[in-house]
Formats: sequence, C-alpha cells, structure tokens
Amino acid sequence: MFLPSQIIQQKRDGQALTEEEMRKFVLGFTRGEIPDYQMAALAMAVCFQGMNFDETMFLTRAMVESGKVVEWKRSGAPGGRALPFYCDKHSTGGIGDKVSLILAPLMAACGLKVPMISGRGLGPTGGTLDKLESIPGFRTNLSLEELVRVTDGVGCCITGATPEIAPADKKLYALRDVTATVSCLPLIVASIMSKKLAENVDGLVLDVKWGSGAFMRSRPDSLKLARAMVEVGKRYGKKVVALQTDMNQPLGRCIGNVLEVRESVECLSAEVPKRGSADLMEVIFALGAEMLMMSGAVKNVAAARELMQKKLASEEALKKFGDMVEAQGGDRRVCETPDRLPAAKHVRPIPAKQSGRVRAIACDQIGYAVIALGGGRKVASDQIDFAVGFELPKKLGDRVKAGEPLMMMHYNDEDRAAEAERMVQQSYDIGPKAPRRLPLVVKRIN
Ligand code: URA
Repeated sequence: MFLPSQIIQQKRDGQALTEEEMRKFVLGFTRGEIPDYQMAALAMAVCFQGMNFDETMFLTRAMVESGKVVEWKRSGAPGGRALPFYCDKHSTGGIGDKVSLILAPLMAACGLKVPMISGRGLGPTGGTLDKLESIPGFRTNLSLEELVRVTDGVGCCITGATPEIAPADKKLYALRDVTATVSCLPLIVASIMSKKLAENVDGLVLDVKWGSGAFMRSRPDSLKLARAMVEVGKRYGKKVVALQTDMNQPLGRCIGNVLEVRESVECLSAEVPKRGSADLMEVIFALGAEMLMMSGAVKNVAAARELMQKKLASEEALKKFGDMVEAQGGDRRVCETPDRLPAAKHVRPIPAKQSGRVRAIACDQIGYAVIALGGGRKVASDQIDFAVGFELPKKLGDRVKAGEPLMMMHYNDEDRAAEAERMVQQSYDIGPKAPRRLPLVVKRIN
C-alpha cells in the first residue's frame, strides 16, 4: 500500500526514496490526490535531509512526466546530426540580467532554434516575462502549439510555462514560496531542469550566477548548483554546459523593465556596445559561443564570436527580435522607435553620500529599490509600473565624488523615489581603495 505519510517519515528520518515512491508522490500531488500539506511536509523534510543524486534525478523525471514534452520536427542531416538544433539558455537570475532578450534572437539569427520558457521576477531579480510585457501588446502566455509555431517560424520564442509543461513544478513552486522551502538545492535543480527538459531541446546552456545580486550568494554554493544541473541534463542525454558568472554588481547599463528592453534593442543594433553594456555583451558572447559550439555550427570560441559579431553588424539579430515581438502580438516598431515604449515622468540623479572608490554593492538592494519604485511586485497580484528603474550605475572600482550621481533614477512617484534613493545610497560601500577585480565568467562546468 502507498501511504504518503510513510514516505514523509522515511525522508524525515534521512532515508532515500525510490523512483516509484517519488513518482507516486509527485503525480498524486499534481492530480490533487495528495494534499498540499503533505507535499509541503515532504519538501521541508528534503530541506533538512537533502537528497542524493539519484533521488534528485527521480524527482526531476517525475516532474517532467507530470506534463507533456514538446515534440519537434527534426530531420536527419549529413553526419548523423539532427537538424535544426533546438537549444536554450537558463539563468538563475540577477539584477539587470536582460541576456535572454538579446541572446535568443542572436542565436536565431545564427540558425539555431530557441524555445525559451522564462519566468517572472523572483525576490529582487527582475523577470524576463515582465520585461517583454513592457512592449505594447507582447503576449507571454502562448499555448504549446503557439510556442512550437513561433519557434519554428521565427527561430526564437520567449514565453511563460504553458499549463502542460511540468505542472507539478508550477504547483510545488507556489507551495515552496509560502513554506520557506525555495532555497533547497535538489528542489531548485528539479524545478529548473524539469521545465527545460520538457522543452525537449538538444542543448542547454546554464548561466549560474553568484554574488550579492544572485540567488546563490557564495561561489561554492553556485558551483554545487551548476554541477548538479549539468549532471541531471547529461543523464537525460542532453548537451549541457554551465558558466558560473559574477553577480556582485548590476549587469549592463539599465535595471528595470522598459529600460532593459531599450538597452537590449540598442545592444542588438550596435557593433560596439554603448558605455556600460560591455559586461552584458561579454556574458552574451560567452553563453552564445557555448550554444553555437554545441550545435556544431562552429568549431571554436573565436569562430563563434566572429559569427555573432556579423549577425549584430548586419542587424539580422535585431530583425529576429522584431519578428519575435510581432509573432507574439507586440509592436515591432519599438525596434526602430524605442520612444514608443512607456517612459517615466521624471529622471534625476541619485547623489553619492561620500567620495572614494566603489568597494562593494549590495546588489539585491538595487533590485528591491526597483520594486520600491513600483517596477516589481511585492505580492503576486501587484501591477507593475514598467517605466521605472535605474540607468548608468557606478560599478565596482569606479571613482565617485560626494554629490556625483551613483546612477540615474526613472520614476513616477516622489514618495517611492525618496525610499528607492535611500536604498540605493545604502547599497553602495564607498571607501579609499578599489576592490580586487573578479572575473565576470568564473568557471565553465560540463
Ligand atoms: N527558479 C525556478 O524555476 N525554480 C526554483 O526552484 C528556483 C529558481
């Protein structure tokens, strides 16, 4: 007999669960036969006792099998390669991380197919879906059939998880969110990987961030997460590479929904990134090179960079972005005329409180300051003010004089702006010496 309370007890006492036990529990929960309180108790037991690698794999598989796996029309090509190559990127999230908006169309312009299932803001980090919804008309609730049609037709698609994609994760994530069980490595691995595996891509590149603006604060923890996700993907027979990247300061020049869309359009239009966006492009080129190499389109990083530069210079990548926006119901004219995007009523600098070099940034606080401005949600039902955010943040090691701008603030409400200004000022640690420079791409895991 299958008794959920016995399974919870087993895990509570540190025993490993079998594949059959995991599957019955997850599928029973998805169908509503196992109540939320039993699933929450199991999740908490996992937080305390952990899971071995096999259990993490069983949980991932059960979550994939709770829904549908996307079917693609692949055909054989010379050399036994299946074509086209379906590939995706997942980021664990950060401040100013608009990589997906640029990378997906760039890869599509290079001939890859990118069916990207993305999420909303989580804690202080902004969400790709929220950013795209700041484009008038853009739909992020495509059906599975639309996801397939846009991906195959345009080359890339960015949308939310459809009801058929890993429904167990949707239900479990909502429960974890309110039972303090989000921050638990095997649960994170199964949650992220189940959605990506249900996309049925051939290759996956993971951007696993570490630092003050990341989910994983420490380098060792983010490395553990990267290794576990790569291992799960490989056991599924996928090509998977993870890059561990730095998130101790905002990425690029803008933080906030519309501002990040504007920066993305500018990066897609320019051979040389504007001041402040070079770090963003470095991460994009590093991730893009991995995707292109795993697809077999290029042999090495140099060739990948050359191809990506070419697609940016010819504006083919920008055109793909416009095609995707149009296919998803949005106003593609924002590519030529970004002024069609909503804009905040006011823009003013946030002055530094003291002079010196930027020693550290509590980057999560900048994310929370966007929420304070109204650019993110405090509760799930909040409406977002897409236009607000920050531009041109001072970066680590920069010199600043008291009274000079730490960054520019775009805002619509004076009270909210006053609170956000305080938060930004407090998040900057300014002292006599610059900190040690850290690499942006720390490690490659495969
Ligand atoms: N993102 C997810 O999709 N799931 C998690 O558990 C954490 C981050």
